[in-house]
Parts: sequence; structure tokens; C-alpha cells
Amino acid sequence: MAAPDVAVVGAGLAGLSAALELKSNGCRVHLYERSRLIGGRATSFEVAGREVDNGQHVFLACCTEFIRFVERAGMGENLYLQPRFDVLVFTRDGERGRLRAMRLPPPLHLAASFLTYRLLNWKARLRVIGALRSIKDALHSEQNFAAWLADRGQRRDEVRAFWEPFIVPALNAPLERIAASDAALVLWRAFFEDAGAARFGFARVPLAHIMNAAARNIDELHLSTAVLAVDIDDDGRPSVQPAGAERRSYDAIVLAVPPRQLAKVLHNSAQYGLPALDEYEPMPIIDVHLWHDRGALDFDFAALIDSPVQWIFQKEAGYICCSVSAAEQYVRLPTDELATLAWDQVRAAVSELSIASLRNSAVTRNPEATYLPKHGVIRPMQRTRRSRVAVAGSWTDTGWLDTMESAVRSGITAAQSLVLERHVA
Ligand SMILES: Cc1cc2nc3c(=O)[nH]c(=O)nc-3n(C[C@H](O)[C@H](O)[C@H](O)COP(=O)(O)OP(=O)(O)OC[C@H]3O[C@@H](n4cnc5c(N)ncnc54)[C@H](O)[C@@H]3O)c2cc1C
Repeated sequence: MAAPDVAVVGAGLAGLSAALELKSNGCRVHLYERSRLIGGRATSFEVAGREVDNGQHVFLACCTEFIRFVERAGMGENLYLQPRFDVLVFTRDGERGRLRAMRLPPPLHLAASFLTYRLLNWKARLRVIGALRSIKDALHSEQNFAAWLADRGQRRDEVRAFWEPFIVPALNAPLERIAASDAALVLWRAFFEDAGAARFGFARVPLAHIMNAAARNIDELHLSTAVLAVDIDDDGRPSVQPAGAERRSYDAIVLAVPPRQLAKVLHNSAQYGLPALDEYEPMPIIDVHLWHDRGALDFDFAALIDSPVQWIFQKEAGYICCSVSAAEQYVRLPTDELATLAWDQVRAAVSELSIASLRNSAVTRNPEATYLPKHGVIRPMQRTRRSRVAVAGSWTDTGWLDTMESAVRSGITAAQSLVLERHVA
């Protein structure tokens, strides 16, 4: 029997993981991507003559499917994962604190690390531990996270020195816009299920290298080719209409594009059981890339408190990437202004940089870095009402918020739903 032909639309992590899963089930995969780049939001490109990521991406050890995806692409050795949760935190005037998991079972491993967290006084540390102890209750809360924290007696100090630097970047939204249940899920997975789950990881190579490796065995790669429409014929067989090319029919399709693009491609998404595609709020992230003359700093990455720059990552000696999450207030500022703002912030916080000079800078802005479902919106599953069409994307229902882990999980589930329907295997 000939191998089934499956089209995947969108070469982000969701589309790529669907493609790998389909390939391992014996399909011929035809990947359509409107950009010339592979990787979607998790890619890299040249800026100011250097290859930079479209924003710093980190994962935690509990992101098991993302790690497996990179291994499947043959790039596993290019991922760094901390041996244990260990995070440096800088204040705006250069004071350093450190949160470091102890070798104890969860949650004691974390509680113990708070005992040495210098950026909070004793009472504040105990208040944070108290709130963390009741985090399981927040899993079922209807409140936003700011309100939930206030009800648990969290004061400004705890919010700025712990909750904001960890939760705002993790969910890419201000605490008032984050559902307490979502924040609790992240904290629960990271700190309570397994003592090693919160270990930070990142790619040691530009993200595009991983994504290109994942795409290597795809049968047909149509880059710079937007799909304008998907239709279903009378026998239920789907076809895609690529821009500037003939319509092509396939045994099945995975649509791995963000919600608004999906609505455009499907025309009538309700027919697929996918209502409410306009109920996802795009949330911006800005990254400011700074090249300085100070050489290597003594840390890989650190959080900043009381600063629009929440995290800094040392990409290589003399190059740091500053990440600004939930960046609505900053996303329209001119590039020079953003570079100056970030440089001033990191120089104040990192004493080694106080006498350094800036050699070069670049800014990557993503007005639609992540998608936040509006309150009460139920995210769709990957299987649709049309059995030969599945959807994928970090915004779909995976049990994870809009992250690389969610994207990979959605792609695998979408591909498996087609396999289960026996259209493709
Ligand atoms: C700056 C930034 C920082 C981030 N940091 C982190 C982080 O630290 N950790 C983390 O886990 N996540 C992070 N994320 C989120 C993460 O990148 C996304 O969750 C994930 O990459 C989404 O993958 P996806 O495949 O679902 O969607 P996308 O990556 O958006 O892929 C969709 C693809 O579909 C293509 N497409 C759209 N319409 C069409 C069409 N009509 N025809 C053909 N192709 C089309 C798009 O060009 C795109 O390539 C960050 C995102 C950004 C932008």
C-alpha cells in the first residue's frame, strides 16, 4: 500500500512535531510554511550580522516532550539542563540573591532554599512558603493570581522578589491577567511533583539549527508558501490551496497555525467544531540583544527584580540577551530607546558591567509571542469534527499554557488522532 500523503501547515514546533510523528507512522509529509524560516516563533535569524534567536527560550526539566522532540531531531546534545534548580536574582542596585534547590524531597527542597534567600526578610520568606503550601487550592480557584496572592497575605516585597520574576515570564502576562489556576499548575509541576522538575534548560545552539534538523527528513518542504484555504470534498478528503500554486488534495491535514490564521484558512471554523478562534489575546515579548566589551560574566542567566527586564542570559562572552515579558508597555518604543533602557538596567544590576561599554545592540519584538485564552474560553482539542483534519499549536488544549512543551504535545496528539482514525497508517 502506498504511504499516505499528509499535509502539515505551519513549520513551528507544533507542525514539526506532528511531522516527525507522522513520519514515524509511515506517512509522506508535505510541510507548508509561509515564512522562509523553519521554527515559527522558536527560530533564529540574522540581526546586525549575527545569528540571534527570535527571543530567548528556556524550558524546565518537566518539559519532557520538548526534550524528546530535540532528541528525535538528533540535537539532544545541544540542550543544556541544570543539574539542580539554581537561580541567581539581582536587585536594581546590584545586590544578589540566590534560590537553589537542596537535596531533599519536594517540596522541602525548595522551602529549604528560601531559608537562604537574602532578598526577602524572614517574615516575607515565611509568607511565601505559606502561600506555596496552599498552592494546591489555587488549582481550582476562579480568581486571578494577583488577587489570590493578596488573599494569602502576600505583600509587595514578596510579589516583586519572588512571584513576579518567576510567574510573569513563565506565563507572559501580568499577575492580574493570569488565572490563579494556571499559575498554580506551573508551580505545582515545577516545584511539587518532582524535586528535579524546575531545573532550567536552554539550547546551546541557535534555535533554528534544531528546527532545521527536525525538518531534514520531511518529504516535501514548501517554504515561503502560505496556505490560503483548506477545503473538504464530498468524500471528506481535504485539500490545501497554497498561494501561487495549484490546489492539492491529501489523505489528511494537520493545521498547526495560530488561532487567527486558522480562522482565515478554514473560513468556517465552527464546521470543524472550532468556535471562538478570536478569543485568544496575543501577548508581546521583547528581547534586547547587547554586545559589550566586558567579556565573560560569572553567571549563565539571572532574574532582575523591579525592572522591565525580567531575565538576562549570557549567550556567549560579551553577548547578553535581555528578555522583557508581558511587554505591552514597551513594544512600540523605538529600537534605540529599548537598547538604552535595557543597557541601563543591566549595568545598574550587574556590577561587572558598570564600567563596560556597549559595542552593538539589536532588538527582536514579538507582539504575538504567546496567546492567552480569554476568561472562560475552552481551548480546542487537536481532533476536529472532520476526521481527516487535525489542529495543533501551543494555544490548543494540551494541559500546558502557550509554551514549546505545549506546541510539541499538540503536534504529537494531532498526528496520533489521524493515525487513530486510520486515515494515515
Ligand atoms: C520571544 C519569545 C519568547 C518565548 N519564550 C519561551 C520560553 O522561554 N519557553 C517556552 O516554552 N516558550 C516560549 N515562547 C513561546 C513558544 O515560542 C511558542 O509557544 C511555540 O514556539 C509555538 O509553536 P507553534 O508551532 O504552536 O506556533 P508557531 O511557532 O507560531 O508556528 C506557527 C507557524 O505557522 C506559520 N503559518 C501561519 N499561517 C500560515 C499559513 N496560512 N500558511 C502556512 N504557514 C502559516 C507561521 O509562519 C509559523 O511558522 C516564546 C515565544 C516568543 C515569541
